Amino acid sequence: MPLPDFEISSQHLQSWIEECFSFARRGEVASYIPALRSVPKGILGVAICDLNGEIVEAGDSDYNFTLQSISKVMTLLLALEDHGPYAVFKRVGMEPTGDPFNSIVKLETLKPSKPLNPMINAGAIAVCDLVNGRTADEKFQRIVDFVKRLANTSEIILDSDVYNSEMDTGHRNRALAYFLKDVDVIRGDVEDTLEIYYRQCALKVTCRDLAFIGAALANDGQVPGNGEQIVKPEYCRIAKAFMVTCGLYDGSGEFAIKVGIPAKSGVSGGILASVPHEFGIGVIGPALDDKGNSIAGVKLLERISNHWNLSIF
Ligand code: GLN
Repeated sequence: MPLPDFEISSQHLQSWIEECFSFARRGEVASYIPALRSVPKGILGVAICDLNGEIVEAGDSDYNFTLQSISKVMTLLLALEDHGPYAVFKRVGMEPTGDPFNSIVKLETLKPSKPLNPMINAGAIAVCDLVNGRTADEKFQRIVDFVKRLANTSEIILDSDVYNSEMDTGHRNRALAYFLKDVDVIRGDVEDTLEIYYRQCALKVTCRDLAFIGAALANDGQVPGNGEQIVKPEYCRIAKAFMVTCGLYDGSGEFAIKVGIPAKSGVSGGILASVPHEFGIGVIGPALDDKGNSIAGVKLLERISNHWNLSIF
C-alpha cells in the first residue's frame, strides 16, 4: 500500500534500490571491528514509516545489523529525559568537530575539557555514564527498553559477537573513556560505562525499526499511530539538530547539502533519518566511505530526498 501523502510505494523504493545498488559494492565494511569484517557488502535495504505508523519497504529491509553510532541518538534522548539539558550539556558540548568519530585530538586542547558533542564516540560514552540506573545492567536495560518503545518492537536483542569483539579490541574508546574519567566528565566506573556503550552499539535492528524511530522523532516524540508521547518535543528537536550538524561526523556538511534531512549513521552501514512532520527512514548498506558512512545508503537517501524535495533547508 503506498503511503498516501507522498504516494510512496515499494515499487518506487525498489527501483531506487536497483539504481543505487552499484554503490553497495564500493567502499569497505568496518573491518576495525573484527566481527564486522565478514558482513557482506551486497546488501541494500530501505523502509519508510509515516506518522500513522504505516511502513513501506524494499530490498534487504529485513536484514539485521547492529545500531553502532545510531544508538547515540537514543541514549542522548534518554539522558535528556533523565536529567534535562542543563545537566547533559555540562558534560558534552553542542558543536560539530570536523574530525573523525573516534578522534581524541580536541579532548585535551579545548577548555573546558569535554567532548564537543554527543554524536562522537567520546561524547556518547560520556552520555552513557549519565543514564539513570544503579548498575551497568540496569542502565543498559533502560536503554534497551527505551529503544524498543521508540521502535515499537519487543524484538531488539544483543549481537554478542559484535559486543565481545568491540570489548576486546576497542582500545581507542577505552583511551577516550579513561581520559574523560581523568577530567571528571565520567563520574562512574569507566569499565562499566564502556560496557554500556558497547552493548548499546551491538543492539540488532532492521531498517523497519530505524524507520519507526525516525517517524517518532519526526512526530516530535509521539509514537506514530497511537499518539503516546515517549519523549519531550524539545528533546527531539535537540536530537534532530545534532543529527543535522554532527549525524554523519565530518561528512555532515556534504550530507546537509546533498540530502538535507536530519540523520544519524553507524559503522554497520545503517542510517536513521527523520523528515520533520513527514516520516522516518531507515537504510542499510554495509560498505562505508572513509568517514564511516554508508555509500549506497547516502545515495539512496539523496535519491529519496530529491524526488520529494525533502531537504529542510
Ligand atoms: N561502536 C563503534 C565505535 O565505537 C561505533 C562507531 C560508529 O558507528 N561510527 O567505534
